[in-house]
Amino acid sequence: MRRVCNFSAGPAALPIEVLAQVKEEIFDWHGSGMSVMEMSHRGKEFTTIIEDAKADLKQLVRLPDNYDILFMQGGATAQFSMVPMNLLEDSHTADYVCTGQWGVKAIKEAEKFCAVNIAASSADKKYSYIPAIEDWRCNKQSGYIHITSNETIGGVEFNEPPQTGNIPLVADMSSSFLSRPIDVEKYGLIYAGAQKNVGPSGLTIVLIRKDLIGNSKRVLPSMFDYRVFSEANSMSNTPPCFPIYVAGLVFKWLLELGGLMAIEQVNKKKSSMLYECIDGSDFYRNLVKKSHRSRMNVPFSTIDDNTDKRFLSEALSNDLCELKGHRSVGGMRASIYNAMPLDAVKTLICFMKEFEKKNG
Ligand SMILES: *Cc1c(COP(=O)(O)O)cnc(C)c1O
Repeated sequence: MRRVCNFSAGPAALPIEVLAQVKEEIFDWHGSGMSVMEMSHRGKEFTTIIEDAKADLKQLVRLPDNYDILFMQGGATAQFSMVPMNLLEDSHTADYVCTGQWGVKAIKEAEKFCAVNIAASSADKKYSYIPAIEDWRCNKQSGYIHITSNETIGGVEFNEPPQTGNIPLVADMSSSFLSRPIDVEKYGLIYAGAQKNVGPSGLTIVLIRKDLIGNSKRVLPSMFDYRVFSEANSMSNTPPCFPIYVAGLVFKWLLELGGLMAIEQVNKKKSSMLYECIDGSDFYRNLVKKSHRSRMNVPFSTIDDNTDKRFLSEALSNDLCELKGHRSVGGMRASIYNAMPLDAVKTLICFMKEFEKKNG
């Protein structure tokens, strides 16, 4: 079997232990004589799977009782519109803090449903930092304040959730969900597409404070209505069964590792080793402000475009894959989510040092 070091930004690498278990159970899940892909979502087998997944996720994030977990579809992109559709009651204004290209997309979608106030933006410095909260110009009438916890393309991450007082904080956590402990109570709503750090694509996880559900006066399609999902335990129609099953295995994998505090230590170590390698050389660079650097997505470049290209092709022939930076920024990007082993990061660093010796 050949397994490469896969630095993809998403869909991304899954823990090898989880893949092994999926393989083990693919023909016959727990004596049911069928795979999870083939069973009724109303049967007792799948009911156990979804209930376990929910209970394990609850434990991982220490979910307070006044919050609900929704398993939805449509990716984070569907949430870009569901959030304003569902959360805005009387107010037709929402605040957005824009720290990268996912923020830009969230705003573009929200503008179809409400007036968007851009409370702060780091576009002035190519999204390389997070504007200080003292400089945010929030609107007191806003229904919520939206942030992107980790900008997957730019590699910019909030280290702490901002204090937003009575205005609910909404966070797109797609690329950092479960990479560190989450103080859920600081948020009104958290959403994350699964395919970065949690499981296969096709599942979107929403954590929502219960009092924010069902306040919208709009006519909402059922598939876009948090209340429908909350009341039906995310089973009003056929859920993404297989992704929920795999995500459930990832939750168990995380719990066995020691939960989010334990994985945070590993993530700190992996990212700081990589940034040290970049900062310790005149050959590589990362332009993000140090205190706002992402632990999950590390963009970097060499001295020029041609050298970047050579870096990528030589990396590929060493089984270091998917390191190409997003098409909008170029260069390289190493996505080092939870499932990326420390050894793979060490291998990348060795390769970087060798490459620098030859080309620097
Ligand atoms: C990947 C990503 C998205 C888009 O997710 P889809 O599942 O493709 O809709 C949105 N926000 C962030 C932060 C992402 O990383």
